[in-house]
Amino acid sequence: MIARLVAVVLALLLAGAAQAAERKPDLILTGTIVDSDNQTYREVPFAVPAGTTRVTVRFSYTGKDKHTTIDLGLFGSERFRGWSGGNKGEFTLSETDATPSYLPGPLPAGTWKLVLGIPNIRKGVSATYEAQIWFGDTGAASTFSDGPLATGPAWFRGDLHMHDAHSDGECKSQSGNKVPCPLYKTVEAAAARHLDFIAISDHNAISQFDAMRELQPYFDKTLLIPAREITTFHGHANVYGTTGFIDFRLGSATVPDLNALLDRVAALGGLFTINHPALPSGEICMGCGWTVPDTDYARIPAIEIINGGATALFGNADNPISGIAFWQDKLNRGYRITAIGGSDNHDATAEKNPVGAPVTAVFAANLSESAILAAIRAGHVFIDAEGDTTRLLELTARNGKIAMGDTVTLHPRETVRFDLHIAGAAGAHAVLIEDGKPLAALRDGTIAGNDVHLPFQATFDGKRHWLRAEVRDAKNRLLLIGNPIYINAGPAGP
Ligand SMILES: [Zn+2]
Ligand SMILES: [Zn+2]
Repeated sequence: MIARLVAVVLALLLAGAAQAAERKPDLILTGTIVDSDNQTYREVPFAVPAGTTRVTVRFSYTGKDKHTTIDLGLFGSERFRGWSGGNKGEFTLSETDATPSYLPGPLPAGTWKLVLGIPNIRKGVSATYEAQIWFGDTGAASTFSDGPLATGPAWFRGDLHMHDAHSDGECKSQSGNKVPCPLYKTVEAAAARHLDFIAISDHNAISQFDAMRELQPYFDKTLLIPAREITTFHGHANVYGTTGFIDFRLGSATVPDLNALLDRVAALGGLFTINHPALPSGEICMGCGWTVPDTDYARIPAIEIINGGATALFGNADNPISGIAFWQDKLNRGYRITAIGGSDNHDATAEKNPVGAPVTAVFAANLSESAILAAIRAGHVFIDAEGDTTRLLELTARNGKIAMGDTVTLHPRETVRFDLHIAGAAGAHAVLIEDGKPLAALRDGTIAGNDVHLPFQATFDGKRHWLRAEVRDAKNRLLLIGNPIYINAGPAGP
């Protein structure tokens, strides 16, 4: 008796914006395997709709206790897409990346077929199988893993800017020649520095995602966030949290202006951040400084204010080409933009300008891509300029209810209590900056122990302000820099 195939179409709408919770499958295919199916192949067809950006399959079956075995593979409408036999119950494919065993590439609409191989089913035994299929985003918390790598709110520390073989990252080969540096060396270096997350941001390329998908299950303590460095003639910017193609040819007919580029990033749900805005532009560093005319900073959620390459050049994160002044100018104009850092590492094996210096520390709900990117948008971030993963800078107000990135609304002449919490920086000193200028509200900025609280209070005039804290060493080198608490600021731009 030939088993009947039952196909239930639950929904054919593609997923919209990324959700934190996994959504229901778009399609569930079920069927029965009987003993006469032993050592045969069964094709299970299903329709892939036009415009599909990702196909994800989760497969399960009964009867393993009776030694029933069902192998799994996939043929697309035009070609073979992979075979995982009995070694994977779930796989995903997109244009850029696929679970190992499967081929990334275009996902043409049409009839695709799951191929079930039945190497063994005993006489008199039957088994049922179920294939759950998603088209587009599954709503998983991260691109390369389903659940968070760590649960519960905490400070998570990572590097948001680095390069490898998929762009201009180079390191020494076995023979000592400079060669494109394999992506896994970057992930290995990040893991060795105990980073919680990294975003590998090759120049305009999106070929790195396939390698990241392979590595994520092994590096299950280091969240891999898809990124790329949009590299234009007028500035560089990272986009995090999407694998979709983004046309980077700013100023060409396809991307006439920055708003067109930002519209595409928004449609993909990506996070856009301006990189190293104060680097020089010209033949010394082509397109490096941010010179895009008429940038609408209300659409810029974050700016890289500390770049590891620039820090290595000057031996101090606060240097003439840091992005700090550029960022503060935007804050003074009323924009709320999160300051982040990135190593911009181009050699994962290098000791100078290494992976993980600076570190961007993010207070997030858990260690997942959606939580980390949401916390960056919210400004719950400080930067450790040297990449120490044990230091802490927390500026809070009103008994911890207001954190960095938040707004506190005050009447004229209202006084508010703050707490500055610093750990791992004994012997250094703390400085407060209000609207870009030092604020002498700390009785004594000296950090006398390994874990200190420096409470202070300040009175404001009812107008818009911002207040941030930083920590400097005895030589006045910048160690830690926090995002501001905003006073009387609106939710977005000016
Ligand atoms: Zn760059
Ligand atoms: Zn870069």
